[in-house]
Amino acid sequence: MNTTKMFISRAGGILRVCHRHYVIGAGSKTALCGPVRPTHHNILTRNWRCLSTRVAYGIQVTNDGKEVDVFWDNENKSRFHASWLRHNCKCDQCYNKDSGQSTIYVHELPMEIHLEDVKITDDGHLSVRFKEEDHTGTFPPGFLQEHSYSNGHLALKKQATKINPEHVGVVPEVQWSDVRDSEESLYQCLKNINEHGLCMVRNGSIDGKLVEKFALKIGPIWDNTYGAVWDVKSQKTPTNFGYTNKEMQYHMDLPFYQAMPGIEFLHCLRFDATVEGGQTLFLDITDIAENFRKDHPEEFNILATIPFTFARVHNDRDYPINMVIRRPIIQLNREHEVVAVFWNPTVTGALQAEENEVESFYKAYQLFAKQLYSCQDKEMVVRLQPGEIVIWNNRRLVHRRNAFHGDGDRHFRGVYIDICEYKSRLSILSQKYGDGSSIKRVGNGDWF
Ligand SMILES: [Zn+2]
Repeated sequence: MNTTKMFISRAGGILRVCHRHYVIGAGSKTALCGPVRPTHHNILTRNWRCLSTRVAYGIQVTNDGKEVDVFWDNENKSRFHASWLRHNCKCDQCYNKDSGQSTIYVHELPMEIHLEDVKITDDGHLSVRFKEEDHTGTFPPGFLQEHSYSNGHLALKKQATKINPEHVGVVPEVQWSDVRDSEESLYQCLKNINEHGLCMVRNGSIDGKLVEKFALKIGPIWDNTYGAVWDVKSQKTPTNFGYTNKEMQYHMDLPFYQAMPGIEFLHCLRFDATVEGGQTLFLDITDIAENFRKDHPEEFNILATIPFTFARVHNDRDYPINMVIRRPIIQLNREHEVVAVFWNPTVTGALQAEENEVESFYKAYQLFAKQLYSCQDKEMVVRLQPGEIVIWNNRRLVHRRNAFHGDGDRHFRGVYIDICEYKSRLSILSQKYGDGSSIKRVGNGDWF
């Protein structure tokens, strides 16, 4: 039993107290109680380091029990609304630990929610009673810090997920034997893709199953109209432009799917030295879009608001497809930051914009295309060697291919995995091998 009963008062009547002894409301007595750091709490923070491993040692209930301010031991404060706490309650009644799912019926909750009996427990958790329901919830400090939304904390979190411009245009690499044998090396590979948009895997074998086996270490393979595993080599009657030896322009793969492929793998099974050309070239289109906004704000706005048509209509094949999706090329969040870009001039459908928008749309569209082709100093060039794999984020990078010719063969095998499966795996490994913080934006439309 802790016998400390002293408090530090602060200006404004807020009391800071040790986590074992709390008080709510104003007080005039000044005495001393240093913040007590519990040794047994287990704080898990992700994506945000600002408040990590902080201990709550003061609380103040305000606004008639509709809000509580939690004071952390680094001078930071987080405000939580009663409604937020109620909806995020993880008590046995509100949360099924076996399935990891909420069991709250939203329509049954009171419309007005007030807190009472608010305290910090012996193990540092915030405990509150929801007045209208005779229901108690407890919240670990790590959970509260990770999800704090007040006092500029959202802006800090958003900032931490932005791509570092110094990472753009750099091709990192890992060794196949490392990622094959070590989960920590796999984490490094996934982190490289997160920071740079891509990663080279050197010195693998030409085992035809290699890329499939590797992808499965990260997530399930994403099946699609070209098959779960597909080969890129010249065909007599190609079902896709990729299956020729011709040059290919900048594009993302399959943007006519609502959830287009996220992470793309290309494994080189054969690329004879006698073949000329055939390099794969990458460009960070999210970075280009931000620059496009500076250079052409009006056109940027057009691409972010007028829906373009992505379509794959191809009846003359074994498995006919007719996929059409309309959406703006650039997708923004509320702060007008770019959260996704869709680009592939080879699978466009007929534009369905308003009459007065058509001309200005195509001007903006062409200007953006010109911007892409004027950024070749930022282009990353890869000529795969047999056994190598290049992995990239198809939601963030566009890629193109040089034409190839001459005697000899070029044969790649590819697979995709979903972007959210990738991000999930990276987050899990980051908690295990990294500091669990600062997963960068992956271009999947997530707001930060
Ligand atoms: Zn509950």
